[in-house]
Amino acid sequence: MNNSEPHISNENFLEQIINDDLDKGLDRAKLKFRFPPEPNGYLHIGHAKSICLNFGFGNTFSSPVNLRFDDTNPEKESIEYINSIKEDINWLGFKWENECFASDYFNQLYEWSVDLIKNKKAYVDSQDQETISEQRGVPTQPGTESPFRDRSVSENIDLFHKMKLGDFKPGECVLRAKIDMSSPNMHMRDPVLYRIMLVNHHRTSDKWKIYPTYDWAHGQSDYIEKISHSFCTLEFEVHRELYDWFLQNINVSGGNLIPKQREFARLNISNTIMSKRKLGDLVNLGLVEGWDDPRMPTISGLRRRGVPPSAIINFCEKIGVSKRENVINYALLDFCTREVLNKISYRVMVVSDPIELEISNYEDMKSEMLKAENNPEDDKYGNREITFSKNLFIERDDFKEEANRKFFRLTIGKEVRLKNAYIIKGESVVKDSGGNIKKIICTYDPKSKSGSGSPESLRKVKGTIHWVDKNNHEKISINIYDKLFDIETPDDIDSSEYKSQINKNSFMVVKNACAESSIKNAEFDKYYQFQRKGYFKLDSKNSKKIFNRTVTLRDNTRY
Ligand code: ATP
Ligand code: MG
Repeated sequence: MNNSEPHISNENFLEQIINDDLDKGLDRAKLKFRFPPEPNGYLHIGHAKSICLNFGFGNTFSSPVNLRFDDTNPEKESIEYINSIKEDINWLGFKWENECFASDYFNQLYEWSVDLIKNKKAYVDSQDQETISEQRGVPTQPGTESPFRDRSVSENIDLFHKMKLGDFKPGECVLRAKIDMSSPNMHMRDPVLYRIMLVNHHRTSDKWKIYPTYDWAHGQSDYIEKISHSFCTLEFEVHRELYDWFLQNINVSGGNLIPKQREFARLNISNTIMSKRKLGDLVNLGLVEGWDDPRMPTISGLRRRGVPPSAIINFCEKIGVSKRENVINYALLDFCTREVLNKISYRVMVVSDPIELEISNYEDMKSEMLKAENNPEDDKYGNREITFSKNLFIERDDFKEEANRKFFRLTIGKEVRLKNAYIIKGESVVKDSGGNIKKIICTYDPKSKSGSGSPESLRKVKGTIHWVDKNNHEKISINIYDKLFDIETPDDIDSSEYKSQINKNSFMVVKNACAESSIKNAEFDKYYQFQRKGYFKLDSKNSKKIFNRTVTLRDNTRY
């Protein structure tokens, strides 16, 4: 735990469990937590929930939190994923105590399995996976015991040793715990501890030919690391009996604290998917640009889109922790994002669909410096200067030749304020031969300059519109993103159907938008509000000319 970490308040049923254990005499100094990702993909916002939960407890109880890579499935894992996971946790602002790997415990796990064999609690089964599954049966009826269940200790030791040496092919045999083939809990029906895999592991190379299953590795890793509370998602609730059985049956002469597994509900969010495997499918099928595509619910995607870490943390705090699964509306994440960005973003004016505006009573060659606040929410963001001249650009949408009373933007004969500048009045339009408006002519009130304090500057007009100086602006590109899936619960579809379910309008590019010239100083680690348009972030993968829209200013999407 580190004082600069984000503070998370986790007052929930899991905290109650920890407090109860403390009340019953558990030494507070023994509290220890872990976040245990499998390095088989990039982290998503569901993992952020688990990160906030575990590191939040680290924070609350001043306890260490380990980062443990559950690297027991080398076929799908890689160093790239390990590095991305560390980068994402760092970016969220959390500091782990130790960086651990389940693979560091492979020797110990092997020795414990030999002990289980010696105690007649494990055996080598020479049947194939299909037969083993069939024999497991159904919860309401006892399963069938394997014909190899009563192999002698010495035969088991010999076979297991050969498995380790690579004398068998994958699928030829497995090591199973000998528990109870008639248990109503299917996970207790002689679960598999080891399977043979002849693949290169990203850390142990080809040293191991057998790899422990999740169930066999997880609780023992918790034990070795002296984790007091091992929090996982609800689907593991049915594994808990096995988690406890292993810890009771291994030789725990080390006398470490016996860890406690408890479960909470996964985070699901509407219109997106929340599984590394499925997100990986989108990447591999080329349906998105990569794991960090700004439409992805990955931490790296959200970061690239411009969602600040504190918005993710506030979101996790808001959704809380419960025992019931539900689907959180994406709009809540957007809400948390806006709330933070409003406070920290630099304001700039950007016109994405420009039309020229000429101020007929403004001097021809004059260029004036106007002062504008960078962030009206916070003085410390200071001011910037923008140039103003006779010829400007405004949004095509902000003008109508004729409009009804409800149109508060520019029209002929009516006044609006140009943001940070003067009040103008629409006078006439210049059209091309096809009747399209080429230019709007207006007049301005020289005494109405914003911030000048004059009575005219305080005059109220119905609308304010943004603009840029035609003679001094920068061209930028804007990436507009929308939700990745049209349907609310895309997790229900299988990967072969993803293609047809992706929202075809989820990515759009606006080229040649005109931005005020201060945009030249935009920085990759700052957040921007394009006034009246939304929040934007420089795209980290590109030059300084491409901005990603993080979220609109108000919730006018269909989330
Ligand atoms: P995925 O299916 O996306 O790979 P996982 O559960 O297999 O998810 P792990 O890398 O094993 O991913 O997860 C690390 C930790 O994060 C685990 O404790 C897991 O329970 C938790 N976690 C994963 N997904 C979610 C989620 N959607 N909500 C909350 N916690 C999650
Ligand atoms: Mg997993």
